[in-house]
This record gives sequence, structure tokens and C-alpha cells, in this order.
Amino acid sequence: MRYAHERKAFGKEIGKFQLVQQKIARMVQSYEMARLLYLRAGWMKNMGARNTRETSLAKWFATDASFDAARMLSRCTRYGYSDEYDVERYLRNSKGAVIYEGTSDIHQLMQAGYALGYREMPPCAVSYRLMIQVWQEE
Ligand SMILES: Cc1cc2nc3c(=O)[nH]c(=O)nc-3n(C[C@H](O)[C@H](O)[C@H](O)COP(=O)(O)OP(=O)(O)OC[C@H]3O[C@@H](n4cnc5c(N)ncnc54)[C@H](O)[C@@H]3O)c2cc1C
Repeated sequence: MRYAHERKAFGKEIGKFQLVQQKIARMVQSYEMARLLYLRAGWMKNMGARNTRETSLAKWFATDASFDAARMLSRCTRYGYSDEYDVERYLRNSKGAVIYEGTSDIHQLMQAGYALGYREMPPCAVSYRLMIQVWQEE
């Protein structure tokens, strides 16, 4: 955000250009979606509910989104190529998370498996209905 305000091209800050705004809007959208997904997964885990499906979805989405954001940033400026700046590090670091703890490929297979009914969550001690009830009481 700071760079978008500070950097000027053709007489105006680059944040005023629609394509830069589009990238920022996509990052905001992905950040909020990832946040909701991981908060749901964490909440379910805290409640003692099975959360493999939700955690997988959150991990897949958040790590792909962070890599996409880093890629957008690195494409935007020469600083994205130089290892003297953080932008290049974001790109390398975010790529790691896409690979470990289940690659995005594996999480896609899991999500398709759940959606198609090939993969099922085993019964759990805490039901979804009970969780909602506790949540409403809070
Ligand atoms: C930064 C970083 C930190 C890591 N930290 C650890 C760690 O602490 N502990 C640890 O044990 N490992 C760690 N790893 C290793 C990581 O878990 C593996 O790299 C990852 O599981 C992928 O395995 P692979 O590299 O052997 O890829 P491969 O198995 O060679 O896979 C190559 C490609 O094929 C796809 N693929 C493979 N099998 C299937 C399949 N059955 N179905 C569909 N697609 C498939 C993969 O998604 C991938 O795109 C780390 C990796 C990185 C990058």
C-alpha cells in the first residue's frame, strides 16, 4: 500500500491506476477469505470437532492466495527480482507453504473427494449441531 502511494509514474501515484487497484482488490479479497476459512478451521478444532475438510480448504486457499499475492507484487516492480528487498523473499517463502503440509494438488484431490462423496469424515464426538448451539449461547 505504501509503495502504491509513494511510487509515481506518468505524474501520478501508481495506486491511481486501475490495474494496480485490481491487484490490490484481489489481495484484499483473498486475505479476507483466507482469514475466514482459517478462523473456521481453528474454531472447529477448539470445539473438538473434526476439521480435516475445513483445514485442508483453508490451507490450500490461504497458501495459494499468498503465493499469488507475492507473484503479483514481484511482477509489479524490479524490487521483486532483487534479493536485497523483502518482495523477493515473500515470493520464495510463500512458495514453500504451497508445497509442505500437503501440496495444493493433494488438497484439491481431498476437496474433490469430499464433494463427490468418495472421501468421508469419520463420525465425531462433537456434532456440528452442538457446536452451533454452544456458539449461539456465547
Ligand atoms: C520449505 C519446505 C519445507 C518442508 N518441510 C518439511 C518438513 O518439515 N518435514 C517433512 O517431512 N517434509 C517437509 N517438506 C517436504 C514436503 O512435505 C514435500 O516436498 C511435499 O510433500 C511434496 O513432496 P515431493 O517434494 O516429494 O513432491 P513429489 O511427491 O515428487 O510430487 C511432485 C508433484 O506431484 C504431485 N503428486 C505427488 N503425488 C501425488 C498424488 N498421489 N496425487 C496427486 N498428485 C501428486 C505433487 O502434488 C507435486 O505437485 C518441506 C518442503 C518444503 C518446500
